[in-house]
Amino acid sequence: MYNPKSHNAEEFISHNEVLDTLKYSDENKNNVELIDQILAKARLGKGLTHREASVLLNCDIEEKNKEIFTLAEKIKKDYYGNRIVLFAPLYLSNYCVNGCVYCPYHAKNKHIPRRKLTQEEIKNEVIALQDMGHKRLAIEAGEDPVNNPLEYILESIKTIYSIKHKNGAIRRVNVNIAATTVENYKKLHEAGIGTYILFQETYNKESYETLHPTGPKHNYKWHTEAMDRAMQGGIDDVGLGVLFGLESYRYEFAALLMHAEHLEAVYGVGPHTISVPRIKKADDIDPDTFDNGIDDDIFAKIVACIRIAVPYTGMIISTRESEKCRERLLHLGVSQISGGSKTSVGGYFNPMPEKEESAQFDVSDRRPLDEVIRWLMELGYLPSFCTACYGSGRTGDRFMEICKSQQIHNFCHPNAIMTLKEYLEDYASVQTKKVGDKLINKEFNTLEDEKIKSIVEDNLQKIEKGERNFKF
Ligand code: SAM
Repeated sequence: MYNPKSHNAEEFISHNEVLDTLKYSDENKNNVELIDQILAKARLGKGLTHREASVLLNCDIEEKNKEIFTLAEKIKKDYYGNRIVLFAPLYLSNYCVNGCVYCPYHAKNKHIPRRKLTQEEIKNEVIALQDMGHKRLAIEAGEDPVNNPLEYILESIKTIYSIKHKNGAIRRVNVNIAATTVENYKKLHEAGIGTYILFQETYNKESYETLHPTGPKHNYKWHTEAMDRAMQGGIDDVGLGVLFGLESYRYEFAALLMHAEHLEAVYGVGPHTISVPRIKKADDIDPDTFDNGIDDDIFAKIVACIRIAVPYTGMIISTRESEKCRERLLHLGVSQISGGSKTSVGGYFNPMPEKEESAQFDVSDRRPLDEVIRWLMELGYLPSFCTACYGSGRTGDRFMEICKSQQIHNFCHPNAIMTLKEYLEDYASVQTKKVGDKLINKEFNTLEDEKIKSIVEDNLQKIEKGERNFKF
């Protein structure tokens, strides 16, 4: 029985409700009247249900699809302006006891060297990341209670926050580690993490169990209810995601939105972010062996429909995707991207030749952060290194309230301008700085509130003189 308020995975992600949704969207994919009604509701900017959004995803009327894409772009602009938040993944350990068939870190893979960073090595990685200009990290680790126990993760977080190198600082550490207990989520919360991220991989229980044949991750219920435990442990920013390519994308899409509805129904706050990774080539993994790969057009449609369905939820795209693909998705709804990423353990301080890397997956966008920043600015985006919401306790429902009242622009826009200025002063190449200073001038002039404008002007001058960390 489908029940978004239930704490039982098989009730809030009801297989039958997903199947009924797919049937409903098949029956209505050419129902222009209904599609128009759904689009009219979506234009109010308050989101859609999984059923409504599934009809849009399944619609193949060209004219309506154009409307869907145009609306996604509009919602993106209205809610996020032209800001794009930057982050980098930091791989702590690739020891893993699971048997995930799509991941090269699976326990049976004997070709890849297993590595776990010491605290000294973490320090080197963080300094390398700070020297690139990063302020926000997502730490990643395989699941291994002996090699990567929670104490190791907690100690690593402490190390990361403690490193202040030149003008650098990591101000938000997001965490992508395996599902754990409420007690452990409490400890992560106390350690000051930003978002807890856990990809569901697939919401289809049967496929999930086949794709995770061994190890603790095999347990569908434990994995799917992880966000509930995270919320119960006090973490109010959680990040959802599915690994597209494993199962039918329409199934995943409906279930992903059901998961978001469940969090909203029970905890009063939906997911902070949604990630949309696609399965990629990696050491002993060939993405072509999975039957459900999606092409770039369907991928774009998924991103557009997520944007419309959950306007307040940030959307993340990583360097798994190429520059060209990322450019397209930025228009349609992506609000956060990684840049200059290494997906191997120790890859920032000690880059290895591509062939010898123990990377989790092949990175398509290999450009250094400086180039990514310049590219964003040349496309008309405002790169942001802001972490102010987190630093000021604007998380969970407090963050969502500000988003929903559209006040977020009053904070985010000036903060983006000031953190970009810091980046340009401290880390940018001459060419990037030139493009950036021009952009800052332009963006500064769009600030409407005279009081905010005068504070920003003052702060920009202070940043030029060497002061840092200004925020609203
Ligand atoms: N070990 C943690 C867990 O069990 O959830 C998560 C960390 S893992 C380093 C991060 C994510 O990378 C996984 O959740 C998975 O979705 C993704 N991933 C694994 N293999 C991949 C591949 N071949 N291509 C693209 N993404 C992959």
